[in-house]
Amino acid sequence: MAVSHSARLGEAALELALQMVAGGAPVRVAAGAGIDGQGAPILGTDAVAVAAAIDELATDCAGVLVLMDLGSAVLSAELALELRASDVPVRLTSAPFVEGLLAAVVSAAAGGSLDTVADEARAALTAKTAQVADDAAEPEEPIEPPARGEAETRRVRVRNPLGIHARPAALIADTAAGVDVRLRRLPDGPEAAAASLSRLLVLGARQGDELELLATDAGAAVVLDRLEALFRDGFGEGTDDAAAVTDDPAGAGAAPAADASEPAPVAAEPAPVAADRVPVAAEPAPVAADRVPVAADPVPVAAGTVLRGRGVSAGRAVAPVAHLAPPLAEPDLRTVIAPADRESEADAVASAAQRAADRLRGRAERASGETRAILEATRLLAADPELVAGAAALVRAQGRSAARAVWEAAAAQEADLAALGGRTAERAADLRDVRNRIIAEIVGVDMPGVPELDEPFVLVAADLAPADAATLAGGRCAGLLTEQGGPTSHTAIIARSLGLPAVVGVAGATRVPDGAVVLLDGETGTVEVEPPAPRIAEAAMRIAKAAVAPLAFGGTGALADGHRIALLANVGGAADAVAAASARAEGVGLFRTEFCFLDRATPPVVDEQVAAYRGVLAAFPDRRVVVRTLDAGSDKPLPFANDDDEENPALGVRGLRVARRSPQLLDNQLRALALAADAESARVEVMAPMVATVDEARDFAQRCRSAGLTRVGVMIETPAAAVMASALFEVVDFVSIGTNDLTQYTMAADRLHGELGDLNDPWQPAVLRLIAGVGEAGRTAGKPVGVCGEAAGDPSLAPLLIGLGATSLSMTHRALGRVADALARVDSTDCRRAADAVLGAATADEAREAAAAAVAG
Ligand code: PEP
Ligand code: MG
Repeated sequence: MAVSHSARLGEAALELALQMVAGGAPVRVAAGAGIDGQGAPILGTDAVAVAAAIDELATDCAGVLVLMDLGSAVLSAELALELRASDVPVRLTSAPFVEGLLAAVVSAAAGGSLDTVADEARAALTAKTAQVADDAAEPEEPIEPPARGEAETRRVRVRNPLGIHARPAALIADTAAGVDVRLRRLPDGPEAAAASLSRLLVLGARQGDELELLATDAGAAVVLDRLEALFRDGFGEGTDDAAAVTDDPAGAGAAPAADASEPAPVAAEPAPVAADRVPVAAEPAPVAADRVPVAADPVPVAAGTVLRGRGVSAGRAVAPVAHLAPPLAEPDLRTVIAPADRESEADAVASAAQRAADRLRGRAERASGETRAILEATRLLAADPELVAGAAALVRAQGRSAARAVWEAAAAQEADLAALGGRTAERAADLRDVRNRIIAEIVGVDMPGVPELDEPFVLVAADLAPADAATLAGGRCAGLLTEQGGPTSHTAIIARSLGLPAVVGVAGATRVPDGAVVLLDGETGTVEVEPPAPRIAEAAMRIAKAAVAPLAFGGTGALADGHRIALLANVGGAADAVAAASARAEGVGLFRTEFCFLDRATPPVVDEQVAAYRGVLAAFPDRRVVVRTLDAGSDKPLPFANDDDEENPALGVRGLRVARRSPQLLDNQLRALALAADAESARVEVMAPMVATVDEARDFAQRCRSAGLTRVGVMIETPAAAVMASALFEVVDFVSIGTNDLTQYTMAADRLHGELGDLNDPWQPAVLRLIAGVGEAGRTAGKPVGVCGEAAGDPSLAPLLIGLGATSLSMTHRALGRVADALARVDSTDCRRAADAVLGAATADEAREAAAAAVAG
């Protein structure tokens, strides 16, 4: 879109641009600042009009490129980014207004991605500068940085696939420490001091980009050599073969390209085993001295109390409680610091940043592998002189409080990042994390979210958002205790996949004092508060024993009569997939793709999605991987997909229904999946969540097939889909029963509701009858019926599900051994007998008893 001071200029430029393309292109002009009393147009720009035009384009486009004519148009466009309601990526470009608009329109009409359109627009002056040899233009040579004394320079190429993201930026800053090195993206990109991590990120340097390194200090050559070597070897993240060959004809130092058939690198940090989490001492482990306890409830739960809830992830934990810290409130804008106090307030920013950085350094020193690298990168961001200087300037000039100043300085940097779109926008999350750390230091509260402790702890929360739960991996959380939540809530699912004992739906859980030792049993659903020392010692011993004897899976699921049942894994990303492959899962039966993007405010771009999906596919070469398209909404809202507050989100626009509003989101995902499938050998199958009608299934199948994805299925999660299974089989190749949602929708009981856990029970006869109907439809159609809800990982249900017609079961990899063992003890006749028996049951308990009796003989 074009932002101009003059409506006539804007319209004329647009007219010219549209003459270049036959079929037109989506373009809007936001120009002028209204009309004056005489009806004459006022020259100027209006941020509200710009925001409205962006929103209008966002309904049809996967991204918006904004071109601006003069300086203040830039300000309006920047402000519009804050005002707009839509969430597609928006890129502000410095491209020339007329030539850029022409080039962008032509590229957009040809179906170019946002990146391509932006690149075309930026490069739009190249032809003109080549033809007109004026003083200002040097078309053949890149713009030289300002000469400063005896400058040393180097030219380097970004070779690593993810470009200059936080880790490479941290390596650059570290390597250049103490030397004034500047980097400039060629030919005319921004410049950044190597010492400023945030500025390095704003460079927006991607794979293939060329940068110039410049330094004037004595001894700079050595540092530049080191930096050059870092770039050459792709910062240890691998290099792209094509980039290595075409971009470095001399081939000097080109690192060997990663073999495309090799699994993509994944987090090296192994998932902690339960034994790690067992505190050896019976005494409560000390809570870090700097933790400020959560506001104490007037009636804390007394020592010796036994709380009861629903055990949703087996195992025991004994450790002190730590509460989930609440989110930080936005610091008050109205606080104005008196001029006399501003200097000390500004100092408070620097010292808080220093404390945050020191804390991170301490944690990094105690960590290893990927975790250490991430902490180290975050430390550098916390110590970033630009952020501190920006905030201090706001304190001095405008009397902002230290906390408010950090908030605003971070927001300004974030806007820079967001404007670059793509992966760079993702790095905004790192910036927010650092902002929160510094503000938490200033105001003296805990860092929001899951506590970062070095000793094992039981995490207590009213409930846990999936994004918080996802941060538990690799930490010291030994168990979960929540006031809300049911057996199939995502907290429960994540706890099971991490092997964390969990009890949910515990009234009074949040009144257990911080630091009180609890003994939590994820099987029985009991939580003992400050139990006597002998109980703690006995529990610690039992935990240690259980940790060394997990039931292993041999890699082939089968009944006693040899009937094969594929046992697959549920995964949420590459790290899960690698763990599942090590646990010998036969493939992936459910890849919850939304788990890859829980903290994203903007939709992931296609190449970013390809990377995320390839990470999972690479762990299962030649194996089946069933990928579920984004199941956004309900208890897993994704900010970029669900931007409204629904009265009843579980019955609202979730799963496949999101595509009604944002078809492009689905099509982009399918495109990314097809690209990922082409690049890996895994056998990719795709399925849609939350399907209720045959029309939805047919439309989904058509979209998948047009994207080049041939094996298409749907999840059976609604009673409507279960009832219509035979008709669904006419348009799809397979189905997978999501028992979690199928149960909540059949029983009309919110799966997050602690009090309704007895209704959220897949043993309910109504649910079992629906499953039986789907099984029958699958048998008749001769097509596979998978089960991928939590029921599939329950060894007591597994034989019954097979008897009801399931042909494969997909579960957390931790359940594979136990389910395989249960299946190996029964034959096909036992399974059918169990199915016949439960179909006559009137209650869940009767169904359980009938199945157990039938299986026993
Ligand atoms: C289900 O509903 O059973 C399922 C597997 O999907 P999710 O738990 O992710 O909603
Ligand atoms: Mg579901």
